[in-house]
Amino acid sequence: MSILVTGGAGYIGSHTCIELLESDYDLVVLDNLSNSSVESIRRVENITGKSIKFYKADLLNRNEVEQVFIENTIEAVIHFAGLKAVGESVHKPLQYYQNNISGTIILCETMEKYGVYNMVFSSSATVYGLQQQVPLSEELPIKATNPYGRTKLMIEEILRDLYNSNNSWSIALLRYFNPVGAHPSGLIGEDPNGIPNNLIPFISQVAVGKLSCLNIFGNDYDTKDGTGIRDYIHVVDLAYGHIKALEKVLSSSGVDAYNLGTGKGYSVLEMIRSFEKASGRNIPYEIVGRRTGDIAISYADPSKAIAELKWIAKKGIKEMCEDSWRWQLHNPNGYKTETKVLRVT
Ligand code: NAD
Ligand code: UDP
Repeated sequence: MSILVTGGAGYIGSHTCIELLESDYDLVVLDNLSNSSVESIRRVENITGKSIKFYKADLLNRNEVEQVFIENTIEAVIHFAGLKAVGESVHKPLQYYQNNISGTIILCETMEKYGVYNMVFSSSATVYGLQQQVPLSEELPIKATNPYGRTKLMIEEILRDLYNSNNSWSIALLRYFNPVGAHPSGLIGEDPNGIPNNLIPFISQVAVGKLSCLNIFGNDYDTKDGTGIRDYIHVVDLAYGHIKALEKVLSSSGVDAYNLGTGKGYSVLEMIRSFEKASGRNIPYEIVGRRTGDIAISYADPSKAIAELKWIAKKGIKEMCEDSWRWQLHNPNGYKTETKVLRVT
């Protein structure tokens, strides 16, 4: 029996593959490599000393998806595959609805056909939209503010309908807060295409000298120092959350949402200071206007995941920044960087 990981070559998927292999699961990865490189899979194999059965396949191609289920006995699916850039989704909504929603429907139809009813789905804290109160808990009404967020919201609803139609389904909807950091080996990490949208990849590229200056999007929010506050979570903690969610879906049925966050919020300026300390580099910045659609404060109430999944985030911002920096320093060109020196044997 194997676990199928869709989008397993990507940032969070590759870190989760390590945790899965280290927990002795057999893995099949399906990824179309539209936002990743097969080099990440090679490095995961290198780190763990275990092998992964990899399919370069697209969720929109029913035959390719079905082939994976024909050739393997799948016990559960961890479904990461999707497009994730908020700004791009505003300009290309149909591409986002098509890829994320149609891809998920084809996956679920194939799972039903082959009697596979266990799924862990990558949702996002973006489904909380603009809320009046923090911390954000799973009971709050969901209401996304952009097409990307709406794909997550709609998929959550589709998966709930699916369970209502057939109670054999067992589904965990994992609402990630702000994943950052990298595997401590420095061999895998986030490898954004072009200029990064997210804070930590942008800071990392300033620190390494690829970008000259960070723009801080507003210092007039009603927060401790005026800059936006987020719940940053180390990707290794997040990856481990998938193991705990997988254990839950394999041992029960139902559909449940869980926040995966630390419950602590840090401002942009706090993250810059922490990254400067971790890297020993100065991060020049400039205050510019607010980014459209940004919210002031977002952090999780993680108590449901703590109680029901027996999962808690353990790593603080020091490790998040140190591990992001190690990955950036040794892989200034992401997966295109040669890794002879770092290779784990
Ligand atoms: P990523 O882009 O690194 O990984 C996604 C992977 O899915 C990529 O390898 C890509 O090639 C693959 N993919 C996309 N469309 C596909 C398709 N049609 N068929 C097959 N493969 C396809 O992103 P990530 O940061 O690892 O995020 C993983 C999941 O978590 C995504 O669903 C994302 O929306 C969600 N998420 C991410 C964040 C974040 O900040 N990184 C936050 C909340 C939720
Ligand atoms: N941010 C910033 N400059 C950047 C990128 C992000 O000031 O170049 C701020 C952003 O306004 C927010 C925080 O950093 O307050 C986290 O942004 P990110 O895009 O990483 O996550 P999200 O806003 O999606 O939670």
